[in-house]
Amino acid sequence: MKVIRLHPGRERSLLRRHPWIFDSAVAKGGADPGETVRIESSDGRFLAWAAFSPASGIRARAWSFDEAERIEPAFFRGRCARAIAARTRLDIPSDALRLVHGESDGLPGLVVDRYGDTLVAQFLAAGAERWKKVLADALLQETGLAKLYERSDANARKLEGLGETAGWLRGDGPTELGISEHGWRFGVDIAHGHKTGFYLDQRDSRRKFAQWVGRTGARRVLNCFCYTGGFSVAALAGGAASVTSVDSSAPALERARANVALAGFDAARAEFVDADVNDSLRRFVAEGASFDAIVLDPPKLAPSAAAAERAARAYKDLNRLALKLLAEGGVLFTYSCSGGIGADLFHKIVASAGADAGVDGYIAERLGAAPDHPMTLAFPEGEYLKGLIVVRK
Ligand code: SAH
Repeated sequence: MKVIRLHPGRERSLLRRHPWIFDSAVAKGGADPGETVRIESSDGRFLAWAAFSPASGIRARAWSFDEAERIEPAFFRGRCARAIAARTRLDIPSDALRLVHGESDGLPGLVVDRYGDTLVAQFLAAGAERWKKVLADALLQETGLAKLYERSDANARKLEGLGETAGWLRGDGPTELGISEHGWRFGVDIAHGHKTGFYLDQRDSRRKFAQWVGRTGARRVLNCFCYTGGFSVAALAGGAASVTSVDSSAPALERARANVALAGFDAARAEFVDADVNDSLRRFVAEGASFDAIVLDPPKLAPSAAAAERAARAYKDLNRLALKLLAEGGVLFTYSCSGGIGADLFHKIVASAGADAGVDGYIAERLGAAPDHPMTLAFPEGEYLKGLIVVRK
């Protein structure tokens, strides 16, 4: 077993069971990509078993902090079983859910979503990549399913020195699937959709949005960054007279249109705009438009803490424009999924957007990812998605 020795003082985060070992913490030692290594403090104490990643700034990710543990197939079966069992304690109103959420489930670099009888997995770090076959077998064994599609074509792989790969890993079948969330049918393309196909993390927010649209009697709704129309369907289900959905991806809009039809809503109530959201918001402001409910769910604008400042300006501008478009008593659901922007900073950004727009509002609620995307005590980075419900005064 290869040993990685840390610099003095750099054992602290591991003693708190945080799973990341940064390159700057490593004093000596090396291994192959994904190889299991023994992490030791500068004075030679055992800290963790970890997967080494020579190309990554996160030089190793801990599998276990227990010296007696063996990192072998039975270990991975146990971790998959625990993650899956944790979801059975949640009440998830959908047949699509996240079964494994990486570090939060003790499986760094592994993301697994279930869409009905099909699993979709992303292997995003060297360790998960090395144990791919074992993990695939463990996942099928623990779920009793037979189909697993791989979507390891995410940018994060580059940081680990891994190439892109996608396709059936186990079994075979259609890649255009149907799911039911809150009783609403959605088509999901697991081969070409974003991430694993659907933004499962916004499930609870979509229902909340439908409730707010209903409760406030919102008639005109604007869904910015609509992707495949999750919030658009929610708006119509909540009773909106019309919903305008904006995205710059033509295939996403096409599916959004299909999803509105699938949910059984009159196509005349839904308008789809293939455009940049920034441009559209400016155009709506120039036209003197106004909406009773708005969703602002942009992509990750700050991939790292270093990019946070620039991203903060972009978030602020989007929120300023949206607040200007919001009718009195109207409701804004606004989000950031950037890990580099914490909940406090996001709150400040939206507050300063309000100041610039000359608009005040009640913060009715703080939002986060659905609970099948857990945060843990040891890994605060697991909190990436944050949102606010703002009701205009
Ligand atoms: N709210 C959605 C998920 C949004 S994901 C849901 O519940 O499913 C972010 C979306 O923003 C993606 O669909 C992407 O195509 C779109 N996007 C990214 N940059 C954009 C831009 N500048 N203008 C318009 N859409 C953009």
